[in-house]
Amino acid sequence: MANEKKNIKENKPKFNPYWIYGIALAIFIGFQIFNSSGYEDGGITNPTEFFKFVENGDVDKVEIVNQRIAKVYLTKEAEAQEIHKKSKPNTLLPTATRLPNYKFEFGELEIFQNKLNKVIEDSNLNLEPVYITEENHLTDFLLGLLPFILLIGVWIFIMRRMSGGAGGGAGGQIFNIGKSKAKLFDQNTEVKTTFKDVAGLEGAKEEVQEIVDFLKFPEKYTTLGGKIPKGALLVGPPGTGKTLLARAVAGEAKVPFFSLSGSDFVEMFVGVGASRVRDLFKQAKEKSPSIIFIDEIDAIGRARGKNAMSGSNDERENTLNQLLTEMDGFGTNTNVIVIAATNRADILDKALMRAGRFDRQIFVDLPDIRERKEIFEVHLRPLKKEKDLDLDFLSRQTPGFSGADIANVCNEAALIAARNGKKFVDKQDFLDAVDRIIGGLEKKNKIITPSEKRAVAYHEAGHATVSWMLEHAAPLVKVTIVPRGRSLGAAWYLPEERLIVHPEQMLDEMCAALGGRAAEKVMFDKISTGALSDLEKVTKQARAMVTIYGLSDKVGNLTYYDSSGQNEYGFTKPYSEKTAELIDKEISDIIENQYRRAIKLLEDNKDKLTELAEVLLVKEVIFKDNLEKIFGSRPFVVEDREGPAK
Ligand code: ADP
Repeated sequence: MANEKKNIKENKPKFNPYWIYGIALAIFIGFQIFNSSGYEDGGITNPTEFFKFVENGDVDKVEIVNQRIAKVYLTKEAEAQEIHKKSKPNTLLPTATRLPNYKFEFGELEIFQNKLNKVIEDSNLNLEPVYITEENHLTDFLLGLLPFILLIGVWIFIMRRMSGGAGGGAGGQIFNIGKSKAKLFDQNTEVKTTFKDVAGLEGAKEEVQEIVDFLKFPEKYTTLGGKIPKGALLVGPPGTGKTLLARAVAGEAKVPFFSLSGSDFVEMFVGVGASRVRDLFKQAKEKSPSIIFIDEIDAIGRARGKNAMSGSNDERENTLNQLLTEMDGFGTNTNVIVIAATNRADILDKALMRAGRFDRQIFVDLPDIRERKEIFEVHLRPLKKEKDLDLDFLSRQTPGFSGADIANVCNEAALIAARNGKKFVDKQDFLDAVDRIIGGLEKKNKIITPSEKRAVAYHEAGHATVSWMLEHAAPLVKVTIVPRGRSLGAAWYLPEERLIVHPEQMLDEMCAALGGRAAEKVMFDKISTGALSDLEKVTKQARAMVTIYGLSDKVGNLTYYDSSGQNEYGFTKPYSEKTAELIDKEISDIIENQYRRAIKLLEDNKDKLTELAEVLLVKEVIFKDNLEKIFGSRPFVVEDREGPAK
């Protein structure tokens, strides 16, 4: 890593703002030395001693300088005394240039004066303090200068901070604010990631492999008249391995690789982003063939002109415009390829995606069951695990997990095994890790009253019972009433990985989700706040059915979804008030129908529900087998999906 820094920053001017601090310090020290030049000084004393001298009649004259310092001149006789040995003798000098024998600061003038007067009176002396003002022009001048020096120091400090060059110690970043902040990986900095470390993602890997090929053997493609693409956009949910893929490209291509994040362009000064883009491309061209990788490009690539009102996105637009210009500007022979990653392709500006810029879009999706197995294989390599660990089982248990989640499961499992003092990581550790990642930490000592526990048990048993009865509801894996994270209990399913979903499937799932609240109603004739997350899920799903997927008869085959993301409906809805009412009615009807259906199902199977809940109360965790024992094999009560009449 040290090398990257060196590569980018080696030409910076040798300017060190610390000299300002140095000068200030030197002036200050010099001033101190000058001011306290030994010759002028008297010996040091303090007020108590001084008053004693006055009482003894040793003092010839007292000067009060600048209302702060007393200078004491002794009489000739006193000076000869042993007690005044430490004073500076002065009687040898001519009277005019006489220097004080003692000097001290007395603090509050008035108190000192009063005390002195009292001593003089008491001792009946003839001593009158002389008041003088001494001016020190140099001090005044320097004190006047100090604020400016401080101000300049603070300014330089802030500039250094803003140019992001806090690290490294050397100054000069004040001139670097418009320079690109990309990290450079090249021959000197080894990137160890290769395509072997990227599991699954066959399609995406093939595409990026081709990019590596373009850079290594451009002639192969250009001899036939083809043009080498300028950019590729990796699109996909977070944690699916986009960054990993880009890093693997760097590792494989062995060409200079500039890596930065979209937000690195953004700074509080206008014009800095654009200037950084220019600088980045300049550097990349100098080192071509090379790759520029921009992570989270949505930070700058968001569609322009959406918030025309706020006017605050000018700077981002300028940055984006500069990026577009640069991508247009370099010819196909410059051999610089830009790879960008985002998980929000829908909000990107259309201009970014037109041919000639990011002409390739590579989708990096959540892994399917086979890919999950491969990812497990990659991340299990460094672990000490039990011999016949069933990878198929693990990948079946982790639907919807991204590569990053799986990496996390493996790590978490190893930690759990270590905590339990095991020599190998076994299947149970993995299952615990999955539970922990989905549900959060187990909270065994959370205080729950027996009646709350009962309610939770019936709620979860309700989910389990309803989903057991419905054909399309996801099969249940386990039900638990051990509190975890923020939830008091959970029923876990193994959803089928479907690409298209039919309305019946959605309705069955909603019915199962409402099973918890329905069970509370059926058993206790009371409902509770415990169903919040179920209701949220169901409401979202019903709204999507009506307004996005066009699955409602009454609203019809239309959608209010806008994939371009160019229109964000703020206060204006794309439908009339009347339609809005219809939509609300439809959503509410769908949910109510499913709720009634769940209630009916549970009423019909009340005995089984009770049995299950009681088992759950004892065991706290039950699995599919327990359900089979109670219910027999899944009966599939395919009811009228519209639900029973009101
Ligand atoms: P993204 O950039 O898509 O948000 P990352 O590339 O940063 O995700 O992935 C985070 C981590 O997840 C990686 O460092 C890696 O450990 C793991 N990971 C993700 N996808 C895969 C994969 N296909 N194969 C192996 N590991 C993966």
